[in-house]
Amino acid sequence: MQISDRIKNVTPSQTLAITAKSRDLKAQGVDVIGLGAGEPDFNTPDEIIEKAYESLKAGKTKYTAAAGIPELKNAIINKMDGDHGLKYQPSEIFVGNGAKHVLYNLFQATLNPGDEVLIPVPYWVSYTEQVKLAEGKPVIMPTDEETSFKVTPEIIDQYITDKTRMLLLNSPSNPSGMVYSRAELEALAAYIEEKNLIVVADEIYETLVYDSEHISIASLSNKMKENTFVINGVSKSHAMTGWRIGYCCGNSDVVKAMTDLTSHSTSNPVTPSQWAAVAAYEMDDSFTKSYNRTFHERRDAAYDKLMEIPYITCIKPEGAFYLFPNFKECAERCGFESVDDFVNAVLEEVYVAVVPGSGFGSPDNIRLSYSLSIEDMTEALERIKQFVLQKT
Ligand code: PLP
Repeated sequence: MQISDRIKNVTPSQTLAITAKSRDLKAQGVDVIGLGAGEPDFNTPDEIIEKAYESLKAGKTKYTAAAGIPELKNAIINKMDGDHGLKYQPSEIFVGNGAKHVLYNLFQATLNPGDEVLIPVPYWVSYTEQVKLAEGKPVIMPTDEETSFKVTPEIIDQYITDKTRMLLLNSPSNPSGMVYSRAELEALAAYIEEKNLIVVADEIYETLVYDSEHISIASLSNKMKENTFVINGVSKSHAMTGWRIGYCCGNSDVVKAMTDLTSHSTSNPVTPSQWAAVAAYEMDDSFTKSYNRTFHERRDAAYDKLMEIPYITCIKPEGAFYLFPNFKECAERCGFESVDDFVNAVLEEVYVAVVPGSGFGSPDNIRLSYSLSIEDMTEALERIKQFVLQKT
C-alpha cells in the first residue's frame, strides 16, 4: 500500500526499539527497571478526577468550541497573569489535545515550505519531525556541556538566514534538564527583538525547577510577548499525561488559524479533560509544591548515585525530571563503538532501560528519567555502575 512521501520523511522514534525490547524482557518475567519514563509516576490528584467525574454527570459530554471552553481559557488567562504577569485575551488562547498537538497545529498554521526553524540540540524528538510535517526545515544548532546545553545570541547568529522564521526554546529542557536564567533570557530577548524572530517557548516543565526560578521569555517585554508563542499544559504539572490538554498563548490571527485546522481535524479537546484542566488550574499550589519537593529529592539522589559511575560527566540539571550524562568515554572504555551499543548492552545484560541521546541529537549522551522511586532508581544506577566496573 502506498505511504505518502510526507510520512515516509518522518523519522520513527529511536526510543521505540528499546521500549519494545524492554517490554519483551518484562513479558518473559525479567526484572527490568525503566529509566525511560517521560511522564510523572504520580496519579492525577483526586480533586481533579472528582471534578472531571462531576462534569460528566452534569452532561459535559458534548462537542465544545474548537479552541477550548471559555472557562478553561479564563483559567489559563488567570494562570498566565498570576504566574508571569502576562495578560492575554481569550482570542489569544488555543487549547488542544496536549502540548504535542498544539505544537503540531502551530507549525502547520505558521510555516510555509522551506521556512527554517532553529532548534537547539539536544531537542525533544517531536520538534524536528513536526516542522518537517509542516514542510518547514529544522535547522539544528549544536550545544554541548560547555554551553550547559543552552544557546546564546552568538550561536544563533551562526545559523540565522533570511529564511529563518522561528526559534524553539524549551526551558526547563527535555532531555537536558537545563533552565535558562533571567540574564540568559534577557540576552536572547535583546537579540530576538533586533532580528524580529518568532519564539516558540515550550514551558511544559515549568513547575519542576529546583535551584532557580522559571522565567517566561514572553514576560520580558511587550515586544517579546508579541513575538512569542508560549506552549504549556497540564501533563507534567498535574500528572495528567493521559488527559491530553495543552495550550498555546500568542498572536490571535495564528490562534484563529490553529482553530480552523482543529475544526477540520480533531474538532475540540476532549470535553471532560477540559473540565479537569479547569479544576487543575483552580486548585491551590499544594500539589505542585509537594510534587516539586519529591522530584527535587529524587534529582539529588539520582545525581549523587550517577556520579559514582566512572568515566562519565554530567551537569547537574536544574529542572524537569531527567539527567543527561555524557557516556562517550565510558562506552569506549567498556569496549563499545557507540553509546547506542552501550545502551543496548545495559538493557540486555543488567536489565536497565535508558534512552540513548542519539534520538535527541546528542549521540554521546544518555537520558535517564528519575520519575520513579529513589529505591528503584538507585538499584538501576547501581546495576549500570557494576556493569561498567566489570567491563573496564
Ligand atoms: N514538550 C516537551 C518538551 C515534552 O517533553 C512533552 C512530552 O513529553 C511535550 C511537549 C508534550 O506534552 P503533552 O502533549 O503531553 O502535553
